[in-house]
Order: sequence, then C-alpha cells, then structure tokens
Amino acid sequence: MSKKVFLTGATGGIGKCLAKYFSDLGDTIICTSTSEDKLSSLEKEIGSSHFYIKLDLSDQENLSSNLENIINDHKDIDVLINNAGSNMDNIILRMKEDEWNRVFDININSNFKIIKKILPNMVKNRKGRIIGISSVVALTGNAGQSNYTASKSAMIGMYKSIAQEVAKRNITVNVVAPGFIETEMTSRLNESQTQLIKNKIPMNRFGKAEEVANLVLYLASDEASYITGQTLHINGGMLMV
Ligand code: NAP
Repeated sequence: MSKKVFLTGATGGIGKCLAKYFSDLGDTIICTSTSEDKLSSLEKEIGSSHFYIKLDLSDQENLSSNLENIINDHKDIDVLINNAGSNMDNIILRMKEDEWNRVFDININSNFKIIKKILPNMVKNRKGRIIGISSVVALTGNAGQSNYTASKSAMIGMYKSIAQEVAKRNITVNVVAPGFIETEMTSRLNESQTQLIKNKIPMNRFGKAEEVANLVLYLASDEASYITGQTLHINGGMLMV
C-alpha cells in the first residue's frame, strides 16, 4: 500500500535520493527545503503529485506555524524522516553562541517540534515510522564539531526514549548514522582532508547517498516492523559497534 512520507531536507544529497526512491514506489512525499528554487527543480524531477513546502528549520516560530498548517492538511502521514541537517564548525574556544544555537535549532530542536506535531496522528492511526538521520560523529566526536556532534548524539537518546513511549502503538522510531557520504556537505572538504578520512575507512571510500537511502527505505517498509529504538550504522566500517 502506498504511504505518505514527510521528508525534511528533500533537496539535499541524501534527501533528493530518498524523494526519488519513495516516488518510484508510488508513495506521496511532503518535501521540505529552505529554497523554493530547489523545490521547483525537485518537482520537475519527481512530479506534481507530491507536496512542496518551504520550511526553514532555523526559524523556530515560523516552523511552528507552518507545521500547524501542514498537520491540518495531512493527518495521514505514515513516515516521518528528519533528514535535514547543518553544520557550522569551530573549535569550542572560538564557537559563538549563535553557531551553537543555530545548529541545535536545525538538527535537534526541529526534530522535537516536528515529532510533537506529527506523532499524535500516528498514535490515532496506530501506525507509523519515525526515522532520524544522525551521524557517525555522534559516537566518535569530531574536533571542530562540538555543536554538530552534540546535536546528532542528542537525536540518539531522544529517539530511543520516544521509541519506548510509542512501541505499543505500532510506531517504530529509529536513527540512521551515516559515515562520510558524497554530498554537498562533504564536498567542502579539501583533497588532503578527504584522503586522511578515507585512510580511516576500511572500505577506503565515501558512501553514496543511494546506499543511505536504501537503508532508510528499508526502515520505512513493512518488513522492518520489529526494529525500533535502534541506531543503524552505515559507514564503510569506519566505526564498528
Ligand atoms: P546536504 O546535501 O548538504 O543536505 C542537507 C539538507 O539539509 C539540505 O536539503 C538542506 O536544505 C537541509 N537544511 C540545511 N539547513 C536547513 C535549514 N535551516 N532548514 C531546513 N533545512 C535545512 O547534505 P546531506 O549529506 O544530504 O545531509 C543529510 C543528512 O545527513 C543531514 O542531517 C546530515 O547531517 C547527515 N549526514 C551527512 C553525512 C555526509 O557525509 N554527507 C554524514 C553523516 C550525516 P536546503 O534544500 O534548504 O538547502
């Protein structure tokens, strides 16, 4: 049966791939992004049967009012994917409060607000899948990314707690923790940084957005009905836990 999927960061590397895969399955996607231009080019690729909504997760007030409208229009969301994420790197001694707060707003406070709005209907409908995209650095730490790693670690504890709260309602709540994946986010690394990281990856390469999207697709599927409260690692062997 086709599903309705709410997807943040739908125009990014992993997000766009997810949007295409769900669309190919015949699912309906509520795609969000900060950019109307990127949303219209996504619409050209996957078609007008989906919903395209401009949503800036760093603007918490705007997010709340937008979510209210979304939830009034869509009481039947089966799958929620908190995929959007952002980093503003700095060592802690130089980290500014707004760098800390902005990354927290986008990466974790948004997750709280979105889950709070979408979960009640999942509880009523007695089914649902909630998937958050964290990161390998949530577990390893990463110099210069105390804000990003803290926000991504917070997702793991938060999702486990919610998983316990809603397990009886047939709702699963899981986190996917990718290693280094070839997207816009990693394209900012220079050649020597890239090589240093690859040396730490047993597979000696970055992952592909498609590889992450396939794992997310599985978690969203009916086949993954007994997986909840987990953090699934996809990192070419960079971290084995
Ligand atoms: P990406 O191509 O840079 O995409 C990031 C997405 O986040 C974009 O779609 C962007 O939306 C969205 N975003 C950023 N700031 C936002 C804001 N203020 N409000 C709403 N959306 C915002 O990177 P990606 O690799 O696909 O990232 C997807 C997820 O994977 C992120 O959570 C990231 O932290 C995580 N991750 C990535 C890697 C990696 O190596 N690439 C590794 C571990 C985890 P716009 O369309 O508005 O630009």
